[in-house]
Amino acid sequence: MFVDKASITVKAGKGGNGAVAFHREKYVAAGGPSGGDGGRGGNIVLKTDTNMSTLMDFRYKRKYIAENGADGAAKTRTGKDGQDLVIKVPNGTIVREKESGAIIIDMSGLESFTLAKGGSGGRGNKHFATPTRQAPRFAKAGLAGQNLEVVLELKLLADVGLVGFPNVGKSTLLSVVSKAHPKIADYHFTTLYPNLGVVYVDEGASFVMADIPGIIEGASDGAGLGHDFLRHIDRCRLIVHVVDISGIEGRDPVADFETINDELQKFNPELASRPQIVAANKCDIVTDDAEAERFREYVESQGYRLFMISAAANTGVKELINAVAAELVKLPPVTVFEPEYVPKEKPTGTPEDLVIQVYDDIWTIEGEWLERLVQNVNFSDHESMMFFDRTLRNSGVYQRLEDMGINEGDTVSIYNLDFEYTR
Ligand code: GDP
Ligand code: MG
Repeated sequence: MFVDKASITVKAGKGGNGAVAFHREKYVAAGGPSGGDGGRGGNIVLKTDTNMSTLMDFRYKRKYIAENGADGAAKTRTGKDGQDLVIKVPNGTIVREKESGAIIIDMSGLESFTLAKGGSGGRGNKHFATPTRQAPRFAKAGLAGQNLEVVLELKLLADVGLVGFPNVGKSTLLSVVSKAHPKIADYHFTTLYPNLGVVYVDEGASFVMADIPGIIEGASDGAGLGHDFLRHIDRCRLIVHVVDISGIEGRDPVADFETINDELQKFNPELASRPQIVAANKCDIVTDDAEAERFREYVESQGYRLFMISAAANTGVKELINAVAAELVKLPPVTVFEPEYVPKEKPTGTPEDLVIQVYDDIWTIEGEWLERLVQNVNFSDHESMMFFDRTLRNSGVYQRLEDMGINEGDTVSIYNLDFEYTR
């Protein structure tokens, strides 16, 4: 089965917690704090694999979780960073945020992309010693990693898309002009996976050609297989329309040609208006020369260029390929989609779940709600800080601190932020 759309969940690793520890050395009466920092959580990284041409791997594996950072340890040892989880995707994969459908990234031509960042590790107590606080009995918790639900959508990256009815010789053509080995068979729907081949023209010059499963009548209405596959020629710069003109199967080439163009038009009018070159195939077994000639006249009268070829006998193919290459030089590059996703601040958990602890004059506050809030605050930006302050006030956090007896000038310690408490 061919899969070109998949929905997955990714979760980057949580940062390790900082440690609370003290030096214990012989002859040293009271050692200083020595708790190390937690390691960073692993990221979720997407990597482009040009050998892949489907999203089949994502059909059964839907959850991707990167490793957590290890906790810090005594003797100022830092916890190990969590390993990044690398997910391989085909070139041309578009990643969308599931809920909004907004594009996060188009992996076309990109080597790798960090989709979800691991949380940073919490700092160990060694960082919190001051002249007046020599034995800090607290450390910070690591931050959670980012979570995302995404939809992967494959729009293959090819300069040229082959279209045409099943069995007209698309796969055969691709196999003679490139090193691709598409399945070739004498029955319809042989190609169930898109195949990509690199076509070398002269020294240096090359282009990518895609053979997609045959389009059938009604495909753009979702009637058959073809619909899903049309997505793959969405980005092609040029279309090579292959038509069987042999008359062997009793088909009318003009009607076939029109049917396919209608399907393209229904799927995406812009696609139908893209440059198209016609390959009149199976010339080696043409039964009626007059019919073939009628087809040529018809197509040319519509303003298309036509090449009489035999993919199987490899005649006329070179001329076709040269014409394609010459045309491509004049066309704009393959479309790459711009990111449109804006992360939303949506705190989970509630302010009531926060855990407040006091160590001397230091108040630590932890909890999921706050963690999410902190992740989305830009502490170098005044506006953002004001928002943060307001949110804490409105959610009753300051009131709770007051009720617990906080004093002016005490330190409030929240994840990666410490500030002095003022009323
Ligand atoms: P696709 O479904 O469009 O990919 O068609 P295939 O490439 O699988 O070809 C279908 C059948 O047509 C196969 O049996 C091929 O060997 C045959 N075929 C393809 N091109 C030619 C050609 O130029 N001449 C002849 N005689 N047969 C061809
Ligand atoms: Mg085929």
